[in-house]
Amino acid sequence: MNARTIHNPRAATPRPSRHVAALTPYDAVSSLRKIEANGSEYPPLKLDWNESTIPPSERVVHAIQEFLAGTVPLHWYPDLEARRLREALSVYSGVPADGILVTNGSDAALDLICRTYLDPGDEVLVVWPTYGHFLVFARARGIVPTEVAAPDPFAATTGAILDRLRASTQLVYLASPNNPTGVVTPAGDVERLCRASPSTLFVVDEAYHEFCGETCASLVGRVANLIVTRTFSKCFSIAGLRVGYLLASREVIGQLSKLHNPKSVNAIGQVAALAAIEDRAFRERYVAEVRAGADYLVQALRERGAAVRNTRANFILIRVADPARFVRALEQVAVYVRDRSRIRGFEGFVRITVGTLEQMQDLVRRLDRLLAAQPDLLAPPDR
Ligand code: PMP
Repeated sequence: MNARTIHNPRAATPRPSRHVAALTPYDAVSSLRKIEANGSEYPPLKLDWNESTIPPSERVVHAIQEFLAGTVPLHWYPDLEARRLREALSVYSGVPADGILVTNGSDAALDLICRTYLDPGDEVLVVWPTYGHFLVFARARGIVPTEVAAPDPFAATTGAILDRLRASTQLVYLASPNNPTGVVTPAGDVERLCRASPSTLFVVDEAYHEFCGETCASLVGRVANLIVTRTFSKCFSIAGLRVGYLLASREVIGQLSKLHNPKSVNAIGQVAALAAIEDRAFRERYVAEVRAGADYLVQALRERGAAVRNTRANFILIRVADPARFVRALEQVAVYVRDRSRIRGFEGFVRITVGTLEQMQDLVRRLDRLLAAQPDLLAPPDR
């Protein structure tokens, strides 16, 4: 066969979809490489991506080992319906199993929702600032999300959303507690929003709900235009296994199922998630630890002159004059936190994932060593 070169005069290299071409790459700054290269005397404290700070429960590890030793081999595809996990999630959430879809992390749930419900040019409202990956998924569908921003990023946003909401609004995304602000939207507000525009799909991202105890899961059976997304990456300690899920009406699940890839939730993830959801004591202990860790950390930072905000999720926020310097300094003692100061309207803020009380005490001890040499490290910006 004769190999010959054909030329497209309009493109020298393959071009991505025009929606993708317009995207700037997601700012996926992870500390993993730095942790691997860590030459410090300290063990790493990874507090940058709001994962759990402790390994999963013994029951999870045991379930994985049992699975590997069992009769279902890894060379078979996983249970396409995640049947056992969905049944356990039904008990956990109060939503019937046919109103639950298990996904490859909750990110995959958000992506699936965007692919199923959005056409280029649709109006999508998002609270600002919010979780960046949702914006990527929406933009990839040719959406320019309308950002609903209050002058104070920590103020409740329901009123502002209601002001902007129209019957033609296709989708509203709000995380509760929101990342990075921590703002919680009560279930009553979500119900008001859903009822205000029945033709709009409301997506409530409850990645952090276990830490605050607020959920709108019980609304799912009562309003048809609500999807709740959740994750196993936070209080269940299995971020690396990528398991999330969503709760919705049967009608919505039917639409989503047209595009959902049922092979995408791996077998070990399903087994681990099932064991995790069944280990209630582990989860409750960790959530209590995080609450104690947050209270301690906030107080310790305030005593050292910092401008700090607690949240009802597993992170706190600190506002400093020089965020880049603060983050770099912490890296010297193997503490990895997330600089969020480049987000519009969020200048000066650094997000710190909260772990156990003991881990937070360790963090403060390391910080004190830094403060001895750099006493102005925590100084807030001038007003
Ligand atoms: N939603 C929010 C609000 C988040 O903060 C995160 C993680 N940072 C996710 C979703 C992603 O979670 P998962 O690991 O389940 O994809």
